[in-house]
Amino acid sequence: MKSQRALFAILGLCLGSAPTQTVLNAAGDVATVHRTADGWRREHRIIDLHQHIDSTPEHLVRAVQIMDRVGIGIAVNLSGGTTTHPGDAPSEFGRNKQLADQLFPGRFIHYMNLDYTGWDQPDFSERAVRQIEEGNRLGAAGFKEYKRLGLYLRDGAGQLIKIDDPKLDPVWKRCGELGMPVPVHVADPKAFWLPYDQTNERWKELSRPSEPAGACMDRRDARAAGSAGAAKAGGWNALAVESVSS
Ligand SMILES: [Zn+2]
Repeated sequence: MKSQRALFAILGLCLGSAPTQTVLNAAGDVATVHRTADGWRREHRIIDLHQHIDSTPEHLVRAVQIMDRVGIGIAVNLSGGTTTHPGDAPSEFGRNKQLADQLFPGRFIHYMNLDYTGWDQPDFSERAVRQIEEGNRLGAAGFKEYKRLGLYLRDGAGQLIKIDDPKLDPVWKRCGELGMPVPVHVADPKAFWLPYDQTNERWKELSRPSEPAGACMDRRDARAAGSAGAAKAGGWNALAVESVSS
């Protein structure tokens, strides 16, 4: 009986050793790759320079779960908020940064945004510069401008505020002095200005209820009227979001 078992065992080894060994090797290889990759990620701490995260605990938790899965060590949240604050209350930027720093220390860097309230007042530029300085004091690593200039942000007379408006020059200058990078989103994808029909590559996106065609066409007109000057704004990154160049 014993010798029979031994024979089966030997047979089993002979017949099954090759595929079993292959599986074991493959599993070992995968484990090794995981270990190597995890070590590499820990060491390199990939930085995602372009995130827009609503600063709620739920969104931050979700963001970190995704970051951990794909190996991102640090995220730059470009939606840090403005530094405007009523009285002694903390600003949106201050609150957002504090929450992220509390929940996930070292995982998020924040860029600030500009509050355009009072654009038509003569001292807007000075107040805007003070916003930048306040952001810098609170720990803003940079200043992000959304693609609203030349698209829909308007002055009191209804004119689009353009990216090369001289009133904004002191803002760009102060950011430079403080060493704060300025990423600017300019315009919309090209397809937003092409005929709105089934040949449009963004047909489905444009037909979503949240993005009605009429609004998109308005934006096309707005862009033609308002953002031609964006090309002059050298030092930033994009005229059209699909043809990013430095
Ligand atoms: Zn963005």
